[in-house]
Amino acid sequence: MNTDINTTPHRRYNILTGEWILVSPHRNKRPWQGKTEKQTTEKRETYDPSCYLCPGNTRNSGKTNPEYKKPFSFENDFPALLPKNPSEAFEQDLLKAEPESGICKVVCFSPDHSLTLPIMKIEDITEVVKLWKKEYANLGAKQNINYVQIFENKGDIMGCSNPHPHGQIWSQKSIPTEVQKKSEHLKKYWLENKRSLLSDYLKQELKLQERILEETEHFVALVPYWAVWPFEAMIIPKNHFQHIGQLNEEEEVDFAKIIKKLTIKYDNLFETSFPYSSGIHQAPTDGLEHPEWHFHMSFYPPLLRSATVKKFMVGYEMFAGPQRDITAEQAAQRLRELPEVHYSFR
Ligand SMILES: [Zn+2]
Repeated sequence: MNTDINTTPHRRYNILTGEWILVSPHRNKRPWQGKTEKQTTEKRETYDPSCYLCPGNTRNSGKTNPEYKKPFSFENDFPALLPKNPSEAFEQDLLKAEPESGICKVVCFSPDHSLTLPIMKIEDITEVVKLWKKEYANLGAKQNINYVQIFENKGDIMGCSNPHPHGQIWSQKSIPTEVQKKSEHLKKYWLENKRSLLSDYLKQELKLQERILEETEHFVALVPYWAVWPFEAMIIPKNHFQHIGQLNEEEEVDFAKIIKKLTIKYDNLFETSFPYSSGIHQAPTDGLEHPEWHFHMSFYPPLLRSATVKKFMVGYEMFAGPQRDITAEQAAQRLRELPEVHYSFR
């Protein structure tokens, strides 16, 4: 598919959100004179007495973490949402608001303060997957929880204040905007074709082999055709699963395996602990059937051309829409060519 369009300015369509992204491959050789981020190379201790996520430590709220050995979750001490919200909807001419309620949790991936997903053992990442599944089921079963958003902010340039390996889960009554957009496009395709949009997309990507990063028995990691972030990636299960609750034990291990493979590539790219926001999009827990949904995990990393140069979503992107220089195919090729072993173990 090496058509001319890939070498000149063009727009690519995101089949999941219905949005377009501007790609400018000809701009790739432009010199960089902008901001560089300070590279963080400090080696961390396995336990930090001042870390509020380490086992046995007391958090600001006064609560003490147990001496946990496996991934551990707790309700956020400073949650963005509260379980009970007694206020009523508000509407006055053009002003409109409605109450929102939910439960926010923190998920510590490991008791070891020094670790990150790419350097954790597959069996330990599998335990994280199991806890995600449990939280999705338990939170999703609650009457007022219609969507469960699992995510991780990694690295201080992603606004993550604590280096202890952890993620978050925000679950809420309404369906968030990004999920609504994807629901709409997945549903339209499902109704028209009675097939999963992402199953068909995956079939095409596997045939083309231009944006595939890693493939395991049950999962594929790839740079989506419509990627916005320079090294954006997506993990898609080969089976048409609506949510992670459907993974069996073998598939849980395989999911852990591909997360490790992808994040090792990320760290190896600039030989740094690669920052990103990642999240799992899956079927809402609103009690309805969602045959259209096909769960997937997306990674949005901000780094552009080195450990210290970050992509900014400013100017045109704020006012018009996302734009990128390096194409999805170039990004995929760079990631594919990297070693499979983490740089710190070489
Ligand atoms: Zn810690």
